Amino acid sequence: MNYFLVFQNKSYEEERKGGYLWAPQKNKNGQTFHHWTDMTLIRKGDIIFNSFNGKLVSVLTAQANCQEHERPTGLEQLDLWERDGWLVDVEYSDLEQPITYKKYMEGILKLQDNKYAPFNKSLRGNTGYLFRVSKELANFFFEIIEATNPFLRKKLQTEDNLQLENIKQIENDLNSIIILEKTEKETIIKSRIGQSAFKKALLTIEKKCRLCGVRDERFLVASHIKPWSESNNQERLDVDNGLLLCPNHDALFDKRYISFDETGKIMVKQSLEATTKMFLNINDTMRIKLNERQQNYMKWHREKFSEN
Ligand SMILES: [Zn+2]
Repeated sequence: MNYFLVFQNKSYEEERKGGYLWAPQKNKNGQTFHHWTDMTLIRKGDIIFNSFNGKLVSVLTAQANCQEHERPTGLEQLDLWERDGWLVDVEYSDLEQPITYKKYMEGILKLQDNKYAPFNKSLRGNTGYLFRVSKELANFFFEIIEATNPFLRKKLQTEDNLQLENIKQIENDLNSIIILEKTEKETIIKSRIGQSAFKKALLTIEKKCRLCGVRDERFLVASHIKPWSESNNQERLDVDNGLLLCPNHDALFDKRYISFDETGKIMVKQSLEATTKMFLNINDTMRIKLNERQQNYMKWHREKFSEN
């Protein structure tokens, strides 16, 4: 997936109404510019950050690949350009709280690539239409959006997409470089994407260990019910496949010394001695609440628990 930023000034209203982006192929003097021809790089599913009046106002998702298309009606007043152009159908997701770039410019300049980037050292947007956004800068924008526009994130779910992209990319990198043990590879991928995204998502739902009172985030582990190594990429990022646990309870759950039955009641391995159970803070009356999707994952965990 690729990311872009579009400066829509004079054409904003029309393009927004029509649900598209359009750039000419040439100006009246026959000149062409990268900030127009880059339109041809846009593929279905790509994300375009939409800039208007110095602010990030919406996030666009390309609904199809870029196509050759003459200037749509509505843009005639901008008779500065030739009629032949490039068009991308987009879906607009507006930010409730537009984001002023100025506040974040230091970070932005650090994260954007040197070439074809949207902003310049004088802390302003470059002159032109479409610019390239590095994956790091896109992540940064998403972080800001998440912090300031909590509802948009749900709609876009782009962070999940980003994480999926990251996982795939890292997996590819690892596969092509060296043959690693499966567990070693898993550890690298986990640490590279940061367990943080998964944990952060879980923390919005639960605030403490499911089994005890530990609520210091530094000691909470986002444990996968169906383990990472057995899950596909969707399952790896599915918050319903996660339980927030303290280190003790995570170790017990991860190594399948405990599991949970259909009613959420704890199941404990016979081999655990009473004193161990006491010191690790588990008892047979413990119970957790699981929704239907979590139950599906737990079924997998329970079966493995019973096998050995
Ligand atoms: Zn605990």
